[in-house]
Amino acid sequence: MKTITVKGHEVPIIAEPDVFIAGGGPAGVGAAIQARRSGASVFLAEKLYALGGTLTSGLMSKIAVAQMTNGLPLEIIRRFDAYQGTHYENSRPEVPVDPETAKIILDEMVIRESGADVHFGTVVSGIVQENGEIQAVLLSSLDGECAVRAKYYIDCTGDGQMAYLAGADCMVEGGESYSSSPTLMFRIGNCDLEKLFQYEESHPELFEHVYTTYKRHIMDAAQCRQNIEDQIYAHMADFVKLIRARCAEYPDAFTEEEQEVLLRRGILFLSQPAPNHVLVNSTTRPQFRGDREKEVSETMAELRRHCHILFRFAKRFIPGFENAFLMDTASLLGIRESRRIRGDYVLTQEDVESFRKFDDAICSNGGGVELHSGKANSLVLHEQDGKGTYNIPYRAIIAKDFKNLLMAGRCFSASHAALSAARNISYCCALGQAAGAAAAILSLEGKTSVRELDVRKVQEITKDNI
Ligand SMILES: Cc1cc2nc3c(=O)[nH]c(=O)nc-3n(C[C@H](O)[C@H](O)[C@H](O)COP(=O)(O)OP(=O)(O)OC[C@H]3O[C@@H](n4cnc5c(N)ncnc54)[C@H](O)[C@@H]3O)c2cc1C
Repeated sequence: MKTITVKGHEVPIIAEPDVFIAGGGPAGVGAAIQARRSGASVFLAEKLYALGGTLTSGLMSKIAVAQMTNGLPLEIIRRFDAYQGTHYENSRPEVPVDPETAKIILDEMVIRESGADVHFGTVVSGIVQENGEIQAVLLSSLDGECAVRAKYYIDCTGDGQMAYLAGADCMVEGGESYSSSPTLMFRIGNCDLEKLFQYEESHPELFEHVYTTYKRHIMDAAQCRQNIEDQIYAHMADFVKLIRARCAEYPDAFTEEEQEVLLRRGILFLSQPAPNHVLVNSTTRPQFRGDREKEVSETMAELRRHCHILFRFAKRFIPGFENAFLMDTASLLGIRESRRIRGDYVLTQEDVESFRKFDDAICSNGGGVELHSGKANSLVLHEQDGKGTYNIPYRAIIAKDFKNLLMAGRCFSASHAALSAARNISYCCALGQAAGAAAAILSLEGKTSVRELDVRKVQEITKDNI
């Protein structure tokens, strides 16, 4: 077996694919499928035991998919509908999906159909590089330490972990020197939503929206009921008036700290394709960076406790939730933003808000800035959906000063504010699709640098996302 010498000891090289992909979230899935379709061999390392990342293990199972995104992300959504016998495609720009269904569909598309070599429980733990050229990636798995030597490497870890280990220039922090705050998602089962809607209709004053949100998310009970019936996403928020009323009426039900937790985001229920349960997107933590293990560990435990506080409120005070149970909390913290890898170009807020176009566009977005500080009612929204689109250039997915390193997903090269606009699941998947196409073309053409790509060849493949 071939080996590579790392700090004086020999590490076995277990594979030599054209393309190595770190992380199997929406970006890694897009990259793997497209690289295989473009003819490259692919090795994908995923530290968890399912594909999908935040979409599955993070339980963030609602895909934002803009009208201009018609490539692989839409193909995946159509697979959900085919599997479930549903028509959630009509729910665009927001498509609720079942996270368990997502796991099986992504296994099917990535492992069985595309033939990518997927390794679960396998963590990228080190990089061997020389003068900006990655020689091998070091992996830690049940087998111990091993190495993979590829022609091109794509960082889809969300946290920019592979690039960070390679010594790439990583950008962390944004407004007030913190990243956007994280959320630990959870699900509540056995809810009687019709009972909730009827209560809301008889007590509308308790259900007025107080906190800033998207205009399209302000839905009354009738609209939610109809959307659920029509297989369209329903948004049930924010319960702030109800929380204040019940906490005033029952001052001993929740401590002061628990009341503060309840009022950070209010309660935000998202509809899901399966009946009688809701997905809850409510926990949040201020002053988060996302690039330190201790911080992430503490946040995971703290927000898990908050899930139980929110559940306790729902069970006791939300009509229709008397017999509900807490189905699950996510096994992966929902991190909106951590490290971003500096590329040859950094996408800016101005690019987003001026709907800037680039010659080397690889996909287009429509979403506007959406910043979460984690404090009560602090969401910053610049709604611009439907007003225009901006491009993401190829130069924002190639790592500065590296010859064979690309990145896709939420660790791509964007400022804090620009990333907040362009981190949705379908965008991450579209960036992955472009990175996979680029890496496959470069490796099969024998090119030695990401800067030798004829980007028009990628554009031909990703034209349905531009
Ligand atoms: C609370 C919240 C709400 C959101 N709401 C929406 C929404 O409504 N609609 C929408 O479309 N998007 C939403 N998003 C955004 C979206 O979910 C993420 O931006 C997107 O999933 C990022 O995809 P990714 O592939 O870049 O990273 P991730 O989904 O984070 O996946 C990264 C993968 O890499 C793996 N990994 C990490 N490090 C390593 C390593 N060292 N070795 C091997 N594997 C590794 C992880 O296990 C994971 O599977 C939300 C995000 C959050 C957190």
